[in-house]
Amino acid sequence: MEELYNLSFALAAAAMFICLANICFISVQDRMGKTQNRLFVLLLITVAVNGASNTISAFFSPYRQVSENAVLYSEIARYFYFVFHTALAPLFFFYVSHVCGAVFRSSQKKRYIIYFVVFAITETMAIINPLTKWVYYIDADLQFRRNWGEMLIYLAAAFYLAMSLRYLTSSWSSLTVKRRTGILMFASFSIAGIIIQLIFSKVKVELFAEAIGLTGVMMIVENEDDRLDSETGLYNRKAFIMDLGSYIIHQVHLHALCLRINTPEIITRKRGADSMELVEKKVSEFLETVHEKYNIYRIGRRTFVLLVFEGKNSNVSGLAEKINERFKKPWQLVDNFVLLSSSIIIADIPEQVKSLNEALYMFDYAKTSGENKSIIAGDDLELILRDSAVEKSIAHGLAEGLFEVYYQPIYLNDGKTLYGAEALVRLHDDKMGMLFPDEFIPVAESIGLIDAVDDHVLLDVCRTINEEKLYDNKIGVISINLSVLQFMKPGFVERINGMVEESGVDKKLISFEVTESVSASSYELMNDAINELKQDGFRFAMDDYGTGYSNMKALAAMNLDCIKIDKSILWEAEKSEIGKILLENNIRMIHQLKKKILVEGVETKAQIDLLQSLGVDYLQGFYFSKPVPKAEFLKMLV
Ligand code: C2E
Ligand code: CA
Ligand code: CA
Repeated sequence: MEELYNLSFALAAAAMFICLANICFISVQDRMGKTQNRLFVLLLITVAVNGASNTISAFFSPYRQVSENAVLYSEIARYFYFVFHTALAPLFFFYVSHVCGAVFRSSQKKRYIIYFVVFAITETMAIINPLTKWVYYIDADLQFRRNWGEMLIYLAAAFYLAMSLRYLTSSWSSLTVKRRTGILMFASFSIAGIIIQLIFSKVKVELFAEAIGLTGVMMIVENEDDRLDSETGLYNRKAFIMDLGSYIIHQVHLHALCLRINTPEIITRKRGADSMELVEKKVSEFLETVHEKYNIYRIGRRTFVLLVFEGKNSNVSGLAEKINERFKKPWQLVDNFVLLSSSIIIADIPEQVKSLNEALYMFDYAKTSGENKSIIAGDDLELILRDSAVEKSIAHGLAEGLFEVYYQPIYLNDGKTLYGAEALVRLHDDKMGMLFPDEFIPVAESIGLIDAVDDHVLLDVCRTINEEKLYDNKIGVISINLSVLQFMKPGFVERINGMVEESGVDKKLISFEVTESVSASSYELMNDAINELKQDGFRFAMDDYGTGYSNMKALAAMNLDCIKIDKSILWEAEKSEIGKILLENNIRMIHQLKKKILVEGVETKAQIDLLQSLGVDYLQGFYFSKPVPKAEFLKMLV
């Protein structure tokens, strides 16, 4: 019997010392910034006090029968044990909910009130027990007796444990293996301790097991070395992914403020690569002065994200303003000063950004540098998100065959004879409906999927030309839009030739439309490609003539069959005398260059009359037809 007392005494003391050592360690490491850290320290304190109480009880219990003081001291110790031990399970629960990111935000407030009320009731019962004896009492023989209150406290503890496990499982995917293991380790150590103590009621091993479990949590969960960015000491990208991921799972409302430093190339070129590191260090030091360090992340080179939670001090626009102001002033790097440009994106989560992927896309790729605005929020954000959605839609559309080529008929200048058509691509999206090329072509170019889209269009055009009806109707040409980027790619000519030859289509039935918005240096490249393809039999047209800087010399030098005058030139001619002069002279000049003329955007009979009088060759526009699906176009061929 005495040996068991000694063992319990030793275990309780050991639990206390382990916790005290952990508390020392944490305070030396200065890891008390977040609520999570503070809750953990509270857990340690609780187990330490429990350990101390049990040590004292164990120390005095052999003397209870002989000394009244021994009874008094051990009863005081027991009282403290109950008061603190009652708090252990709720504290663990609150700790877990922080680790999982399920921190109490408006949506969860009601539920948290219940958690607090249960905690308050059980804790009050423990505190007032000397008066009520609801939890336990000491009988006339100085024996310890349990009462119904203790049962209630145990039930509450089981409830908190179950809730902790619930949070753990619901955030499972957003927790790192380390975090999961750390928390499960604590839970299983505690449960093992409780079971051993239930079976061998004299072996008070529970606290010791909990102390060891907490040490594990400290080393695994509270140790954040792998969450820290070594250069700035802020949280790194991995921590951001983990934290935001769990906030999103738990529908925590917050604002994410993303700060991007925009002028690094200039700095690195002028002042060496080290300067950029120094710049980021300076900026992160500044950020720490305007926001809590533990809510700042460095998610990439020159990109920081500050998380601002809804609640008492959540003035995110004020914060953005403050940062913006700072960037108007120079930054000191060793012995010189630099001005940095910055852009800020503010996103409301989950109202505007619903998933981690969306957030990462926005903060990593958003093209903010071209914008005049240095703070992007609200509706402007929608555009960025739309780009992201379009990007996904393109990839999905290619995989699922959701691109469809529409055809807009082209008429001869009599306005009656169908001559050909322009292929205009569309993308059907399940959610956004039909997407138009003006929106998705630039996106497809930027993500390198334009080739696949172009191939789809070319193949569809070849198939259309192969339709019998087209031959019977002696259709002159189907035109295809080519983005200038395509010309710059090696192997472009071979690819086009290969595809068309395989389909067996007569190449002169295909005309490629190019725009004049190329820089002078790329004219040559483009000309080479055009000449090569023209030798093979393809035709070429200049699209949107009159919208760019119409470079006459270059235009004359280019080996084109047709010039498509932009609709704005036609519409202007109807409105003003100058506009009319411009249209007339352009037409005369193009004819002198011996090229055919097509005018787009023909919407009225009056326009047709005007264009006929000016001797335009081809007409295209809504007057005849909007772009229509292939089947409808074929119907026009009678
Ligand atoms: P674009 O080559 O100038 O095509 C003509 C655009 O004007 C088409 O818009 C057409 O629907 C529209 N349009 C035609 N007639 C009229 C009219 O009478 N009134 C008015 N208000 N509009 C008219 P869409 O189909 O949205 O195409 C937009 C642009 O997307 C095209 O401009 C072209 O540059 C590009 N695009 C279309 N398909 C492709 C493609 O397959 N590949 C590439 N790279 N670009 C394409
Ligand atoms: Ca076109
Ligand atoms: Ca055009």
